[in-house]
Amino acid sequence: MNPDPETATFLIAGPVRIHPRVLRAMSFSSVNHRGDYFHGIVKEIRELLPVLFGARGHQAILSGSGTAGLEAVYSSLVRRGERTLVLANGNFGDRTDQIVRRYCDVVTTLSAPWGQHIPVGRAIEELEKGDVRALCVVLNETSVGLANDLSKLAPAVRKSGALFLVDGISAVAGIPCPIEAWGLDAVVAGSQKGLAAPAGLAMVHLSDRARTELTPGTFYLDLAAHLDNLAKDDTPWTPAIPLFLALREALLLLKEETLPGRLARTRRLAEGTRAAAGALSLSLFPDPAHASDTVTALNNPTGLGDNEIRKALLEHYNVALQGGQGALKGKIFRIGHMGIADWSDLLVTFAALERILGKAGRLPKPGASLSEIVARMP
Ligand code: PLP
Repeated sequence: MNPDPETATFLIAGPVRIHPRVLRAMSFSSVNHRGDYFHGIVKEIRELLPVLFGARGHQAILSGSGTAGLEAVYSSLVRRGERTLVLANGNFGDRTDQIVRRYCDVVTTLSAPWGQHIPVGRAIEELEKGDVRALCVVLNETSVGLANDLSKLAPAVRKSGALFLVDGISAVAGIPCPIEAWGLDAVVAGSQKGLAAPAGLAMVHLSDRARTELTPGTFYLDLAAHLDNLAKDDTPWTPAIPLFLALREALLLLKEETLPGRLARTRRLAEGTRAAAGALSLSLFPDPAHASDTVTALNNPTGLGDNEIRKALLEHYNVALQGGQGALKGKIFRIGHMGIADWSDLLVTFAALERILGKAGRLPKPGASLSEIVARMP
């Protein structure tokens, strides 16, 4: 029977499990994307987008995964001959660097070791030089389970006059992303993370300033064209129609729960996950002071690797977790607990982990991880 992808306890770091209401919304025959019915759907989505971002602004939906949203933003807001500052502390920070370098030739990249916080002090020093046009950073570094704290950086970015461009793909609808308080100029969200819609759409929020400074570097991802069309409840090209139908339902679910409600629930699940892991003597990979609330990255216990942990979870218990990326392959495993993940998912996952560790003679205190979860359930 196992693994059975249709029924798995599915806690990878995105895409995440999808609510049946969202799945049903997608099971629809083709509709005319230039007809009234679809325009009505697009209108509803347009009106619901501020629920996702927790702010109003210029907001677009792109057919394409999160990377499409990043490419749309960087290609239209960084400039050749003007300096871009990239802050990186994981796989997606490195990806930011790669994308930005396609569109800008004056790039300063400040990196921290994977799992450590971005170097805020060094970034502020660079900003004070006064020649940074745009600063690009990942809010929640999914690859290492670390949430960068942008609150100390934000005043310096504003003071310097740089554009503040943020990859919020695994942050939006998962951890706080106070767009207005931090003065963010662009935030990219992915459909398959905190929003719990299917993979394949990117949502982009832009400030007034970013909107006026858009100089699209690609045709398909021309944000101005997307925004102009969306204002008329339309899309410039044929959109991923079934995904738009799903997006509307996922946004309605978020509206019902409310954004603060989802953030609070995600945080409680993260706290339960960290406490349960601690009870199994599993250590966090990132600096614990900055552990992400949407994805928990844990070191594989000494002597146990992907085969013993993740493969066993999947094959014996139908629990799907995610491994490490790049140099962390085989060294860490990651538990996603965003979107519609729930306590039942954590209970099954940690019960299975206890069994695996118990069989390996590595279970410090049977039941302890489950007690930690139960103690935190509402
Ligand atoms: N940035 C972050 C922080 C991510 O977590 C991901 C995907 O997991 C991406 C970028 C890339 O997004 P996508 O795979 O949807 O293109």
